[in-house]
Amino acid sequence: MSFVKESVSQKPIVDTVFTIVKKAKEDKAKSGEDVVVDATIGSLYDEEGKLVALDSVFSSLKNLDNRVLAAYAASFTGNEDFKDRVYQWVLDGNSHLHHEIIATPGGTGAVAMTIQECLEAGQTVILPEIAWGSYNLMAQMNNLQIATYALFEEDHFNIESFKHTCQMVMAQQNKLVVVINDPCHNPTGYSLNKEEWNEVIAFLNECSQTHAVVLLNDIAYIDYAYGQKQAKEYFSVFDQISDNIVVIVAFSLSKSMTSYGLRCGAAIIMGQREEAVQELKIVFEKDARATWSNINNGAMATFVDVMDHHLKAYDQERLHYVALLKERSDIFVKEAKEVGLKHYPYKEGFFVTLSMDNETRDKYHEALMENHIYTVKVNLGIRVAVCSLSVDKIKGLAKKMKEILDTV
Ligand code: PLP
Repeated sequence: MSFVKESVSQKPIVDTVFTIVKKAKEDKAKSGEDVVVDATIGSLYDEEGKLVALDSVFSSLKNLDNRVLAAYAASFTGNEDFKDRVYQWVLDGNSHLHHEIIATPGGTGAVAMTIQECLEAGQTVILPEIAWGSYNLMAQMNNLQIATYALFEEDHFNIESFKHTCQMVMAQQNKLVVVINDPCHNPTGYSLNKEEWNEVIAFLNECSQTHAVVLLNDIAYIDYAYGQKQAKEYFSVFDQISDNIVVIVAFSLSKSMTSYGLRCGAAIIMGQREEAVQELKIVFEKDARATWSNINNGAMATFVDVMDHHLKAYDQERLHYVALLKERSDIFVKEAKEVGLKHYPYKEGFFVTLSMDNETRDKYHEALMENHIYTVKVNLGIRVAVCSLSVDKIKGLAKKMKEILDTV
């Protein structure tokens, strides 16, 4: 007899990132900061190796009245002004669908809520083959099966694999719940272009003739997309969805505001039919109340204050780091090309991922550590966190990594 639900696996989480982060730290203490390349950390770091915490955001937070920080939120779905600013900031005038917003603890809350509430135990959720690890865990915790689509056909989104996976799942159940992490996919840095989104939506519209479709678009890194405002234009494609599709956009303040620990984000529910949107809103609101009750009031108030009073400063500050991210990734990608170090098609975002089979990956990952280079293993690849490596550390890194790969 077990104390916890027998349906949930009791195997502990294997936190591959944490173990490697620890090893990198130990190596830094032993061999010196200059020798070690720590490409494990998935948060934005500056050129001095420090975590970026945007001044525009944190001075706003510190100027809030203590009572604002102390208070409960106004409702289980979040404060009205917060929901309004999230909608304006994220959709940026690109959507005309019915919508509702639920404030969530980070993007995690929005993704978890969708996975938990949209499928019955035993049903299948569709995930990218290379993906943020938490999707898998969320599926496990809810007793869901997983079907994955291959992400790429050469340098493009693999629409055929996406279609094939959806068709397989449709043969087994009456609903599709599909996760697309875009733009700035974690961990490859790919972003679908508008045509690719058009193809996805046209196909899901076909599926929706026989099946209810839930499209979960995880946009955790969107505010670091190099196109900025243009990077939000693809939302207009969602205006083409049929009545039998709902889209849930999972937004996170963690990256957008560099406020990972404040745990704030939102699920933006969108659909052609008001009733469909309300159906999700009602269930999500209950889920919110039953799990986290309400969201960090100070984090919501900070977001509103930044949007209303410090937008220029926030944009300036963030754009500096977007440019820095581009500088870092440009160097890595250019040098990787010069030496023939293969990676998945990178366009933008926090990570570049080298492509290889899992057997090579395991040996290579060890060999890299023997050479003081610390990275994170992902399915079919090695993730290099350009978000936390200084320009100096990146210069020459691809060449070094290629030389080590040739010895494996
Ligand atoms: N989605 C992706 C792809 C992520 O990488 C992350 C964080 O690393 C999240 C969502 C959620 O982050 P948070 O819950 O901190 O907003």
